[in-house]
Parts: sequence; C-alpha cells; structure tokens
Amino acid sequence: MLSKSLKKHRNKHILKRIILCLLLLAAITFFVIYYRETIFSYELVPPFAIACIGIVVYSVPFILFKIPLLLLDSTWTGVVTAVDIKTNIGTYSIGGKHYPYTKNDIVLTVRKENGKTVKCIAKSLGVKEQKWIDPHTVGKIENHVDEFSVGDKVYHFYGFKYNFYVHEPQNEHKHCIVCGAPNNPNREYCLNCHHELLETKA
Ligand SMILES: [Zn+2]
Repeated sequence: MLSKSLKKHRNKHILKRIILCLLLLAAITFFVIYYRETIFSYELVPPFAIACIGIVVYSVPFILFKIPLLLLDSTWTGVVTAVDIKTNIGTYSIGGKHYPYTKNDIVLTVRKENGKTVKCIAKSLGVKEQKWIDPHTVGKIENHVDEFSVGDKVYHFYGFKYNFYVHEPQNEHKHCIVCGAPNNPNREYCLNCHHELLETKA
C-alpha cells in the first residue's frame, strides 16, 4: 500500500533523526572530554551523582529525536470501536501574559488485529485566537467528527505520525499520513505537504 516515494520520505526522516541524535551525542561527549577537568574537579560531588547526571544528559538526544518511538513503532491495522471528543482546557503564555485555550481532540478507540486496543488522536482542533495552532487544524470539532465512525478501518504505517482511515460507505476526506491534513478523495497528492496520498481502495 505504501508507495516508493512515501517509503523514501519515511526512511529519510528516520535517518535524519538518527543522524541528529548521534551528532548531539558526539557534541555532548566532546564537551565532557574538553571540560573533564572542571567537571570532575568538584570533590564534593559524589561519583553516584555524576553518574546520574550523565545518564540524564545522555538520554536527552534520544528523547529529543524520539528514538524510543522508532523502536516501539510498528505497522498495524485495526478497526475503530469508539469515537470520542476530549476537551482540553489550559493556559499558554506569551510575554508573561497568560491566555486561556481550548483544544478539542477526536479520540478514537481502535482494536488492532492482534486484539489489543489503542487510543489514537485522529484530529486536534483549537479555537481561532490561538495563533500557535496550525491553520488547517483550526475550526469547529463538530465539522470533523463525521470524518470518523465506528467500524472505520485504520492503517498505521511504521514511522508515520498520522494514521490512514477508510471510512465507509464513502470517504469524504483522505487523510495524509505525513501531515494529517484532510484532502479531497480525488486528490493524488496532499494539498498541504504535497506528499502522495494513499488509495482508499486497498
Ligand atoms: Zn500532507
């Protein structure tokens, strides 16, 4: 189902993350070697504490480039068993001022082929005042909830952030697995990121 160009995009994206992670690890190592006399000169700091700090510092690149996700991720298919809307209310700050925000998520409960159940955020929508939210994710959740229903098939592909949904009897949108944008089902390429769209008829 995945085309060559999408596989190429995924592999490039994964390779980039691994290379950036390795570069950051090398930079930390260089820093530690260069400043070793200063770092290890504080006799008051027990070796145990240095080891703990070392572990934390060295785990940062792995977390930053989501390397554990690469190891845990896999390709799977499933079926939607429930569609829920979850509302998140919080505050964000710009220049010391706090602003309230509301974010609505369409949360799907998906039963995988192997019988396990997972929760997937199919779509997140914010309110218009929130400039930090992607323009294509702004809007009313009610306008999007019809895009998903119980019984929809879900395809997850290794290394992709977004799932592909086959909505019966007819897909009104084809969701891009690279950026998540909904596209007209007749389109071959995503309007938002120009990557290839998957075919709903598998
Ligand atoms: Zn896209």
